[in-house]
Amino acid sequence: GISRFSTAAALEEPIITPSVQVNHTQILINGQFVDAVSGKTFPTLDPRTGDVIAHVAEGDAEDINRAVAAARMAFDEGPWPKMTAYERSRIMFRFADLIEKHNDEIATLETWDNGKPYEQAAKTEVPMMARLFRYYAGWADKIHGLTVPADGPYHVQTLHEPIGVAGQIVPWNFPLLMYAWKVGPALACGNTVVIKTAEQTPLSALYVTNLFHEAGLPPGVVNVVPGFGPTAGAALASHMDVEKIAFTGSTDTGKIVSELAAKSNLKSVTLELGGKSPFIVCEDADIDHAVELAHFALFFNQGQCCCAGSRTFVHEKVYDEFVEKAKARAMKRVVGDPFKTGVEQGPQIDAEQFGKILKYIRSGIESGATLETGGERLGTKGYFVQPTVFSNVQDDMKIAAEEIFGPVQSILKFKSIDEVIKRANASRYGLAAGVFTKNIATAHTMMRALRVGTVWINCFDVFDAAIPFGGYKMSGHGREKGIYSLTNYLQVKAVVSPLRNAAWL
Ligand code: NAD
Repeated sequence: GISRFSTAAALEEPIITPSVQVNHTQILINGQFVDAVSGKTFPTLDPRTGDVIAHVAEGDAEDINRAVAAARMAFDEGPWPKMTAYERSRIMFRFADLIEKHNDEIATLETWDNGKPYEQAAKTEVPMMARLFRYYAGWADKIHGLTVPADGPYHVQTLHEPIGVAGQIVPWNFPLLMYAWKVGPALACGNTVVIKTAEQTPLSALYVTNLFHEAGLPPGVVNVVPGFGPTAGAALASHMDVEKIAFTGSTDTGKIVSELAAKSNLKSVTLELGGKSPFIVCEDADIDHAVELAHFALFFNQGQCCCAGSRTFVHEKVYDEFVEKAKARAMKRVVGDPFKTGVEQGPQIDAEQFGKILKYIRSGIESGATLETGGERLGTKGYFVQPTVFSNVQDDMKIAAEEIFGPVQSILKFKSIDEVIKRANASRYGLAAGVFTKNIATAHTMMRALRVGTVWINCFDVFDAAIPFGGYKMSGHGREKGIYSLTNYLQVKAVVSPLRNAAWL
């Protein structure tokens, strides 16, 4: 039932109807599902067909006000920050167990709303979400301050306290993982949360937050508001009672969120934004391995990754061989209904992204890059794009400089290590990089020279709950995951008191 992208047969076959009922389509405030104050709804679409999956309550400024009030109450008067850290941790562990128990329903909703391969959602992303909640559940009762030496006769200590109400705005490319990266550390530190889901993918967050309540989460601790960016998102970023905002999405929207935060109450901001990550293949690399991982680095998740290896730099001595093999690999990529077994690539998220990607492909052709394979839509419905490979890409072409966020690989040629370091760093972004070499001195040099938040050496897209992730330059600031994410959600209070007798200093 699966075909290669060169024939669109798989897309002509009947689309699989998911076996899960969509039960949660309202706004989740204070543990209750409620309609939008305006009564408005918006459709969430199946990217395989463009058909409506469900109509979802459309949160707006007034709903954000209510959600923030609930989070405020849960923080100021509710049990969450006053519970022992161990009790908070146990609720988070129970949530992780429920995520595992409902793995298949959650993965189904994620694939249906987003279009990503079901196998990827069910075998990697939902288990990773449970892992992240366990990781942060483990931190909840290990967060504490320090005793600090002073120059005078004082006892000095620090208290690590939650910030308060955290606003979180997430994108559509990894709806559940972004939820876990943000909600996990916020709750471990004792904050309460209002999360605004992306308008394309509201379903999975509503479903899992309902499970969280089943695990014993008190009402108001996590409130979920589906809705649009300029309305609900902007209301959250500019809310005077929100003390922290964490955002993942485009660099342009990140600037708006920062500005709204600054203009309202100067709430602290964490940003995880776009990228144009270099993937550098040196002449001594294992070429077959590098081809496979360069393919994965770009095409994974339909190319919709902020850290996609979207500038494939290949040494001139191995360039032709690499291009041939990269093209062959892309032509073998299995594209089709993401619910079908063995499918590697589903549809893009929506008509807008689909149109934008096809425009970038045209721009690649017009600017003189060589189209090795792909270049067109696939099938007649939904948002499927052929896996596309360009060679002879130059640094100043749009496809080499701007984030495409689609299945379009750009292969560039380089001559020397110094040159490729300069070119790799000549980007407004600095999210990640891949380095493929067998030479340890080359690897160590690149590791230090590349101005990015993650360097993967002879690997790519290795995500682990404990490994921090975030960007240099216009890819954002702050780190998510790992111990580093806790600092996003903690205030440090210094407490100083004189000693009775300097002898005890
Ligand atoms: P976006 O940045 O517009 O949306 C991300 C989130 O921000 C969504 O929840 C959205 O509703 C919200 N948002 C939008 N406008 C807002 C505003 N004015 N105030 C507050 N919140 C707002 O991203 P998009 O339109 O979905 O995608 C556009 C591009 O962004 C993509 O092509 C890609 O380049 C990039 N992107 C990056 C990531 C990432 O993980 N870094 C994820 C998705 C998209």
